[in-house]
Order: sequence, then structure tokens, then C-alpha cells
Amino acid sequence: LSSEEIKKIRSDFPLLQREIYNKRLVYLDNAATTQKPNLVLGALQKYYTDYNSNVHRGVHLLSQEATDAYEVSRKKIAKFIDAKTDKEIIFTKGTTDGINLVASSFGKKFLNEGDSVIISAMEHHSNIVPWQMICEEKNANLKVIPFNEKGELRMDEFEKLLDDTVKIIAVTCVSNSLATINPVEEIIQKAHAKNIPVLLDAAQAIQHMPLSVQKLNADFIVFSGHKMFGPTGIGVLYGKEEWLNKLPPYQGGGDMIKSVSFEKTIYNELPFKFEAGTPDISGAIVLGYAVDYINQISIERIHATEEDLMNYAMNALKTIPNIRFIGEAKNRAGVISFLLGNAHPFDTGELLDKQGIAVRTGHHCCQPVMDIFKIPGTVRASFAFYNTKEEIDMLIKGLERAAKILL
Ligand code: PMP
Repeated sequence: LSSEEIKKIRSDFPLLQREIYNKRLVYLDNAATTQKPNLVLGALQKYYTDYNSNVHRGVHLLSQEATDAYEVSRKKIAKFIDAKTDKEIIFTKGTTDGINLVASSFGKKFLNEGDSVIISAMEHHSNIVPWQMICEEKNANLKVIPFNEKGELRMDEFEKLLDDTVKIIAVTCVSNSLATINPVEEIIQKAHAKNIPVLLDAAQAIQHMPLSVQKLNADFIVFSGHKMFGPTGIGVLYGKEEWLNKLPPYQGGGDMIKSVSFEKTIYNELPFKFEAGTPDISGAIVLGYAVDYINQISIERIHATEEDLMNYAMNALKTIPNIRFIGEAKNRAGVISFLLGNAHPFDTGELLDKQGIAVRTGHHCCQPVMDIFKIPGTVRASFAFYNTKEEIDMLIKGLERAAKILL
């Protein structure tokens, strides 16, 4: 994207125009959540102004309009991730909700005493705790793929873990604390050679790179709307049709049934079997508009622009004395985690905030990663296509000032 195009894109995001502490906001916390373009904000307003109504139940016009828009959005998402059919797209509350759904449903049906689940040492808490919970319930074991000092998965160790007890593998495509892009294709191939299904956490991948579920051949993929320029409270679980058909429903209630009597309930077909209750209708519809917005720019161009920005940022950050990078994998996306000498990350973050620069500090919901590096947390700058090289320069200036005070 040219700087002219980025300028135009930035004008689509009202929040990016904000000033804080009388300074222009530099928003570098995109891994936590992204800002929303006018296309998304307008669609949200339009839904509640023009056709707010419950879906799938009404014969009246508004309900038909809401249902159509909800299902159109499902189709847009299916196309965006190259799913075979929109039946494979389940609306959830977000990544966390999607992982809990699979851990619970898959675990209930397929995990038994002595079985195991493989995750990696760089997972977000949301891809650790749901598996721990189901493993505890089923007396199954949680096995963890370690990573090396650069933050790259130890594939040799992964292969050693792949024994006959393994029933499912859940790994992240991109680490939200280390930025590592994991070799998920290789993981999937090796797992499938042993008939083990794989769940991918795409929370930090979907907004940065093209993702084709058919090419990847993953069995389940989860992501959050709010990290891809859509609203909070909505997310997606993609599941292969044959897997979703095999799993029991996660929650019971309206919409997920075909018929109910006190003797027997017949569950609805896909995708409705996994969407109990009134869903986040506006969120789902508007997520489709977020996908439209990404498509207007093109995810390939977004990827290239962000790679360029990451390289620029890495080179600029290297000039800061006493900077220590946490996570130096060869393949990286989206975030740069670091520490300024021995300064506590919170202090660095606070000094940046006062200069108008929003970064995240702390463990980023990856406490095991911080334990492995023996640090309390990191400062994390995370990028979206609307960030500019000028903003990176401002981050560098801000860090130089912070370093003078802290070191
Ligand atoms: N996995 C990863 C890699 C993440 O970065 C996040 C959000 N930080 C999540 C899972 C959880 O996403 P959510 O809170 O939207 O459910």
C-alpha cells in the first residue's frame, strides 16, 4: 500500500483521528483489539436503525431481512477463508468461545482416561485452560510442544509427543506474545498421518495473512471478530463438516433444535446445531462488513504492507540501547515484544502512554511464555495495515525518552 493509500485508509477509522494528552494517538495495540472502519460502524447503526429483529423465527419482513443479512455474512466469511460450505461456519462469541466449544464437545465424545491432547508452550490462556479443564474431567493428559530460545516450536519434540494416546492437537498459527508464525501445515500433515485432528487458533493470523482452510486442511479453526476490524462479542468457529456432524452440541436451547418434546429432542442441522439461543445478530452481520473492508484492500496487500512495517520497526528498534527482544523467530507477524534493559514493562508502557503511544504491557495471557523467559512480562507493539512508518518513528522517540528516565 502506498502512503497515499494508507492516508486514505486511516481516514476510514474515526478513532485513529483521536488525540490523547493533547497528542495524536499512536495506536500500537492491535493484537489486543483493532479499530473499526466507518463501513463497519455504519452497518451496525443501520442494523439497529432499519431492520433490528430476531433471526430464523419470523415470517415478518424485518425478521426475514435480519435472517438474510445474518446468512449473507456467514457466506462472506466462508468465502473469505475458503470453506467448502457455509455450514462449516459457526458464529461464536470469539476465539475463547470457539476453543471452549471444541474442547468441551470433542472432549465429551472422544477423550477417555489415558488419552492425551497436545498444545504448544506459546498458547494463549484460552488455548490452554479449556483443554486442561476437559483433561481433568476425563483423566486425560495435556502434552506441551516446547519452543527454542528464539520462540520457534521444537518440531523434533513435537514428533516425539505424537503417540497413540493423542486424540487432538490445538496450536496457534501466530503467537500473540512472540509473533512466531508456526509451521501449522507441517503439524497438520504429521497429525493427519496418524488420523489426529488439529484445531488452529487463528486469532492473530486471520487479520494479517491469507488463510485457506482447504489448503491448510485444518479440522477446526477459530478466530475473533474484534481483532479483524469487527465488533467484540462475535467470532467464528470453522469446522470440517464431517467433524462438526460427529460432535455433540455444546449448548442446548432455541434454534439448535429441529423438534423438542419431553421424551426426545432432535438437534438441528449444521450450522444451527451449534448456535443455541439468540445469537449476536448485529455482530455477525457487521463482521461480514469487516470482511468486505479487508477484501476491498486485499489481504495479500495487507500482508505485504505489514511485513514491510515489521521490518522497518525491527530495524529501528534495534538502534535503542539495551533493548531485548522476546521472540526472534525467523517467520514472524503482527507483534514485536521487547524489554528496555531491566526496566519493568509497566513503567515503559506508562511512559509511552503519556506520549500518546498505546502499547500493551504484561504477560499477554501467556504466563507460561513469561515463565520460560523468566520475565514478568513484555512491552508489546502490535500493528495493523493502518499503522505508518511515522508512527514507528514516534515509538522510537518515545522509547528513547523512556530509556533516559528508566535506565
Ligand atoms: N488466542 C490468541 C493467539 C489471542 O491473541 C487471543 C486474544 N488476545 C485469544 C486467543 C483470545 O481471543 P478472545 O479474547 O477474543 O476470545
